[in-house]
Amino acid sequence: MNRRALDELKQQIPLLEYLQAHDWQQARPIGFGRLLGLCPLHADHKPSFLVDPTKNLFYCYGCRRGGDVIRFAELYHQVKFPQAVALLHQWRGLPPLLHEATGFYRMQLHRHGEAVAYLYQRGVRSPELIEHMRIGYAPGSCLRGWLTQLGYPLQALRQAGLVTGAGYDAYTHRIVFPLEGNLYGRSLSTTAPPHRFLPGAKGGLYSWERVRQCPEVILVEGLFDYAVLWQAGFHNVTCAMGTQLNAYQFRQLCDGMRSIYLTFDSDANGSGQRATQALAHRLREQRLKVCTVELPEGHDPNSFFVNGGDAGQFQALLEAARS
Ligand SMILES: [Zn+2]
Repeated sequence: MNRRALDELKQQIPLLEYLQAHDWQQARPIGFGRLLGLCPLHADHKPSFLVDPTKNLFYCYGCRRGGDVIRFAELYHQVKFPQAVALLHQWRGLPPLLHEATGFYRMQLHRHGEAVAYLYQRGVRSPELIEHMRIGYAPGSCLRGWLTQLGYPLQALRQAGLVTGAGYDAYTHRIVFPLEGNLYGRSLSTTAPPHRFLPGAKGGLYSWERVRQCPEVILVEGLFDYAVLWQAGFHNVTCAMGTQLNAYQFRQLCDGMRSIYLTFDSDANGSGQRATQALAHRLREQRLKVCTVELPEGHDPNSFFVNGGDAGQFQALLEAARS
């Protein structure tokens, strides 16, 4: 994550709000807007935990630790920096504007037969899955009107990348999946670029907080791969949204001891296999156990299931995976 994204995250999560959500109670104000209370980080008997809500900083005179909201999350949850950031992302959820857009897209999904038909064709069939992934549909030419009506200025919509410079909805005829701080849009049309993200980082591994406790994790390339696996009962699956992991995603994979089943596309030109080998090598350097899952040639997990593969067959592939 770059510096700007971290600053943004800190702005969106006021330290005091986060503390209060974790049951911190101020004992008394001590001037200049600062507050004093019991320290949540050590067994404190007289208030020694100082909070400056305007600077978004804390300091404890007892255990002599201090810092910003990320530092607090690290100490409080006893996790490392990347996990603290991930926890904060999860706690914050999507920024309000993207949250609103997600809700709108979700409403549209069942009003558009072409979207439901596309999902069906890609193997996305269970209502629980659609709910779990909060899948929506961007028909185009209606999001701008909806959000402006809610009072969001056009400038904000442009800045978020939801609306183009010319004023049109950026996502048109796209299935939309909300991510940590972004929205991924998969085009239904064959003439438009298939994959799009809004400006900004694609974020961490998909749904990482749900799977990071699993001793075995399946890593796939695309959200439609994730979808069919989850639907088939493999809930220990995560997705990198591409074969190139960003530094944040790589750190997440390495944040504990686990076995990783790399399940990238098996494409004829071998690029998926090369990406798999390169990543497997880097992960093994971090002493993780890595298995590479071999799909039938030309398949990705999505096409494997769409073409009649079932959970039992996929389980057999996992067991046959090479380490
Ligand atoms: Zn303390």
